Amino acid sequence: MTNKLRIALAPGDGIGPEITQACLSIFEAAGVLDAIEFIEVDMGRKVFNQGDSRGMTDEAIETIETTGLLYKGPMGTPIGGGGKSINVTLRKTFGAFANLRHFQTLPGVETVYSRAGVPVDFYVVRENVEDTYGGIEHRLTPDAYTAKRIITTPGCDQINRFAFETATAFGIDKVTCGHKANIMKMTDGTFLDRFRFISQDFPEIETEDVIIDALCMNLVLRPDKYKMIVLTNLQGDIVSDLAAGLVGGLGFAPSANIGDQISIFEAVHGTAPDIAGQDLANPTSLLLSGLIMLRHIGMRKRAAIIENALLYTLESGVHTGDVKGKGEPVGTKAFATAIAANLGKNPETIEGCAVPASDELNHTLPVRPSVNEMMTTHEQVVTTVCGADVFLETTLTPLDLAAKLQRLCETTPFKLTVISNRGTQVWPTGSPYTELVNECCVRFELKEGTVIGQGPTVHLLAKVAEKFTVTEFIPIRMYDGVPGFSLAQGQ
Ligand code: NAD
Repeated sequence: MTNKLRIALAPGDGIGPEITQACLSIFEAAGVLDAIEFIEVDMGRKVFNQGDSRGMTDEAIETIETTGLLYKGPMGTPIGGGGKSINVTLRKTFGAFANLRHFQTLPGVETVYSRAGVPVDFYVVRENVEDTYGGIEHRLTPDAYTAKRIITTPGCDQINRFAFETATAFGIDKVTCGHKANIMKMTDGTFLDRFRFISQDFPEIETEDVIIDALCMNLVLRPDKYKMIVLTNLQGDIVSDLAAGLVGGLGFAPSANIGDQISIFEAVHGTAPDIAGQDLANPTSLLLSGLIMLRHIGMRKRAAIIENALLYTLESGVHTGDVKGKGEPVGTKAFATAIAANLGKNPETIEGCAVPASDELNHTLPVRPSVNEMMTTHEQVVTTVCGADVFLETTLTPLDLAAKLQRLCETTPFKLTVISNRGTQVWPTGSPYTELVNECCVRFELKEGTVIGQGPTVHLLAKVAEKFTVTEFIPIRMYDGVPGFSLAQGQ
């Protein structure tokens, strides 16, 4: 047993082993391995092929849980057959709720912006656990499918606080919230509300919020306006890749998935099967992810020395084939050898990283919780049931459907208030131009003055289910007197 800090290492599939080896050779040359021991674990294609649908062995899970750190190469997701992405599973299982990516102009990497003299240097903080990434999807009718988007107050607080704390630690003075709160008033609206709420604890940081589509346009027009952007999961996923394109592609985008106990550091690109095993892959993304990891555990000095060597190498025209730069490209191994040989050198055309006087290792090992932690924010909310949304498979006209449902609920505490189809109101009023599909939502609300628990909504459901094919059922509620449901378009 050594007293080195242990980190689980999963080289991954495709180009994974080549780029991992390249990064390890640079770490070795920089003396990183004097203080860190990488423990190789089995994850990815090999494990999937052995029939384990998790894509990782029990030993791998144990090593990650005891070290709290995983450095991983890209891994393929089995297509079809219900196999889930191991990358998403890892982040969710281990509570690595914050995805942190850094996008910066690199010397020697030619892009539209480098040619125009527009410097790019910003971080994207993406929520990693919630949103549509639960993968909760259903086929509701032969024609209609749905995916559930879950956004929670504790989840929003966690990621927004992470963004502001990281900005503070990195000396960043402005955080931008990207959202679609104009359309998704409850989910994105909550994300934006909690961004504003958490920002009050960081008065020294300037804040702004931008609707996601405008953000994408602004990023292309003026990427230098941004310093840190915080986003929900799916929007963050898309914006991250857009941002990678601004700095030369996925080969240059590092990624860290940070949790309270376990953190995962990985390249954002995939396994690049088209170039695997040919010594063509660019190890920069994985190397930069490794540098976030070294800084995360307090090895700031060696991280800065390696980053400066990388910048110097790229600046001097040494690059892999995926990069548009001057000079002939070199292979993965030669690129890593060049970086190792340039340790101690600094870039000349841009400012290099300041090199701290020493490394201060400060990683706290995970403490295994005895039960899952329950996160809550609103504990004192008065909640009342005021009706139910029942989703049905039907090809009846809105008028015929309404007549049947009105008869059906006559003897119940509810009245039919709205029918909507794909979110657009089609009864009691609506437009004949609205095209219908065979799945609709019927909203029942309490007749005036009636106060109930959720029991009667279930009885109502049973009555509806006797006559119709029910595809979904959601009791609707008021929270401290505020509706916990959206209105239909046109309502
Ligand atoms: P990809 O990122 O593997 O490849 C897209 C293109 O970029 C290819 O032309 C490839 O050659 C090139 N490329 C990617 N990384 C490169 C590098 N480091 N150096 C040089 N060129 C590079 O995306 P894909 O083809 O859509 O996916 C392939 C597999 O990777 C799939 O199974 C997918 O599920 C998986 N994947 C894994 C991760 C991850 O592990 N985090 C991320 C994305 C995709």
